[in-house]
Amino acid sequence: MNTSPIYDLVIIGGGPAGMMAGLIASQNTKLKIAMIDRNKTFGRKLLLTGKGRCNITHHEFDFKKMINNYNQGGKFLYSGFSQFGVKETLDFFKQRGLNLKVERGNRYFPSEGDSHDIVNFFETKLKENNVVFIKSSNVVKINAKNKKIYSIELSDDRIIQGKNFIIATGGKSYPITGSNGSIFNVLKRLGHNITPLTPALVPLTTQTEWIKKLSGLALKNVTLKIKGTKQSIFGEMLLTHFGLSGPIVLNISNDIVKRLEQGKVIVSLDLKPALTEQELNLRLQKDFEKYRNHDFKNSLKDLLPLNLIEPVLDLSKINVHKKVHQVTKEERANLAKLLKNIEVEINGHLGFETAIVTSGGIDLKEVDQKTMKSKIISNLYFAGEILDIDGKTGGYNLQMCWTTGYLAGKNFI
Ligand SMILES: Cc1cc2nc3c(=O)[nH]c(=O)nc-3n(C[C@H](O)[C@H](O)[C@H](O)COP(=O)(O)OP(=O)(O)OC[C@H]3O[C@@H](n4cnc5c(N)ncnc54)[C@H](O)[C@@H]3O)c2cc1C
Repeated sequence: MNTSPIYDLVIIGGGPAGMMAGLIASQNTKLKIAMIDRNKTFGRKLLLTGKGRCNITHHEFDFKKMINNYNQGGKFLYSGFSQFGVKETLDFFKQRGLNLKVERGNRYFPSEGDSHDIVNFFETKLKENNVVFIKSSNVVKINAKNKKIYSIELSDDRIIQGKNFIIATGGKSYPITGSNGSIFNVLKRLGHNITPLTPALVPLTTQTEWIKKLSGLALKNVTLKIKGTKQSIFGEMLLTHFGLSGPIVLNISNDIVKRLEQGKVIVSLDLKPALTEQELNLRLQKDFEKYRNHDFKNSLKDLLPLNLIEPVLDLSKINVHKKVHQVTKEERANLAKLLKNIEVEINGHLGFETAIVTSGGIDLKEVDQKTMKSKIISNLYFAGEILDIDGKTGGYNLQMCWTTGYLAGKNFI
């Protein structure tokens, strides 16, 4: 066994939360700090974010509004955002020479370059501050006595000793990037409660054939509802060869994944949410007038994307060979009803392998929200996705990492 010197701080996990914690802590250059990751490089998941461009945060300076964008843990973040919210995050990067720009959907990205620049930014600064990097090393055991950690053991038999520890090992999703959730069992043995872990921001599967056939079709300005609930979401979704994906599907998936444990889930698609059923019926009437001598199937081309017409006609059960003027009032009213309520049965999801984040994690009741300090272990802090917090798409999850990483890095001593 090879035993290290005693570090002032040991950070486990070199993702965005761990790197932010390390950078803040190492501003005090007198401290001896080590940062450990099982990968050869830090920030492997960070490199994938925002399709490789890194959607760093969201343009929302009001932290009271900001907290509404988290399924779990929004309230817990309130204090953190008031200390280091979106504005402070933008200033943090800008003051260190990394400019950001806001794009469509109020998403912030680096003004130039991509996610590699963010990872390089952190690595360079951490090196400048003499943080010791321990890479390709998996933490397999944590040794504690009297509710205080004194060392951790690595898969290569090294023992790393420390006075304080920050755990920022992420959740269980996208395990190919290194965050496979293996640390959760270790933390349970230390006395921490882990709330149930489920995939969140995850694509959904269905057996519905017409959806699979239209793989690649993006539907904009639609509403998706979970039947039997008040849950609904407006925006853009994508039909795929396995089912449904795209922003609104990912953002509502957390709830659906949990409901799937109780049985099947039906979602209802409203293709024309801006119109009431009556208004849509009138709109159909106008289109039918315009195309009155055409085949019925050619009467919907002003209203729907072309390849969606056939499945809608199938679902409507109206004889497609009818001329438009032969469609009855009742059939037209039923068509309006259908366009506002196309039901699709969801039978599953793509799991942790492809989930953007994990729902569940370290029970927030056991963490001090102002400092990220464990209430169970006296010299332990948490940051990032390991906590039971998950946000919507749009930069919210990384913002949570910057905020909690900042708090852990600032308060550990
Ligand atoms: C494809 C994709 C795109 C995304 N895009 C965005 C986006 O644009 N904007 C956004 O806000 N969010 C995005 N996210 C979510 C965001 O990437 C995560 O919320 C964020 O990376 C979590 O950061 P973290 O530091 O908590 O954990 P991670 O980034 O998961 O880092 C944890 C690190 O700990 C290491 N580790 C784990 N266990 C151990 C162990 N036992 N020993 C040693 N090391 C260990 C891992 O190797 C890993 O490097 C995206 C996620 C994915 C998968």
